[in-house]
Amino acid sequence: MSDERLRLAIQKSGRLSDGSFELLKSCGLTISRGRDKLYGRVQEMPIDVMLLRDDDIPAFVADNACDIGIVGQNVFEEELLSGIHDTPANEVMELGFARCRLMLAAPKEWSFDGATMLAGKRIATSYPALTKAWLEAESVDSKVVMMKGSVEVAPRLKIADAVCDIVSTGATLDANGLKPVATVFESQAILIRNALKFSPEKQAIFDALLKRINGVLRSRD
Ligand code: ATP
Ligand code: ZN
Repeated sequence: MSDERLRLAIQKSGRLSDGSFELLKSCGLTISRGRDKLYGRVQEMPIDVMLLRDDDIPAFVADNACDIGIVGQNVFEEELLSGIHDTPANEVMELGFARCRLMLAAPKEWSFDGATMLAGKRIATSYPALTKAWLEAESVDSKVVMMKGSVEVAPRLKIADAVCDIVSTGATLDANGLKPVATVFESQAILIRNALKFSPEKQAIFDALLKRINGVLRSRD
């Protein structure tokens, strides 16, 4: 018998991790977590689980440190568009949880009447590639300012005129005098896989896992 194991990357803690653990549980899989809590082992199938920061998951899978991963489509597409990996991971399927939107938000006092209003303006975002792609599709020429966090304070600090940020309730925007004006990207959790061909043993584990995931997603519809 082969001792090959499928290496799965999931977020250690945050907005993706509950849904990821929940999905595995619904698949009938229990994870025993190692003492260092970076690794876990699935008891029912030959799968190793690596617990990471979500932002690291596309790179771990692209670089073959893991075979598959669960990550936000927003993070995955941003990396894909920015072209940082020679051989990026591939999206396998949408998983239906951790839904959120990347939205353009402007000061409340603007009477926003379309993307052309953004011409010549500075837009702060943690998602420069997705934001630029949207601006290009709208044929608008704006300056994109990259910020790692606290994007919504940028207009108040006069670092930018508008922002492009992940929004769920809009409360954070509101508290900063901003209102959402356009949806740039709709996101949810996705399953990604390394672009290389798996060994037959690994492929068989992957297929068995996919079958379980598909069964769970069908029952959730
Ligand atoms: P980490 O410590 O792993 O880097 P993080 O703080 O960067 O975590 P989270 O806030 O946990 O990330 O968000 C992870 C992902 O969850 C996002 O990239 C997005 O795909 C999804 N998500 C779902 N709802 C929201 C939301 N309301 N705000 C932000 N992200 C959300
Ligand atoms: Zn993160």
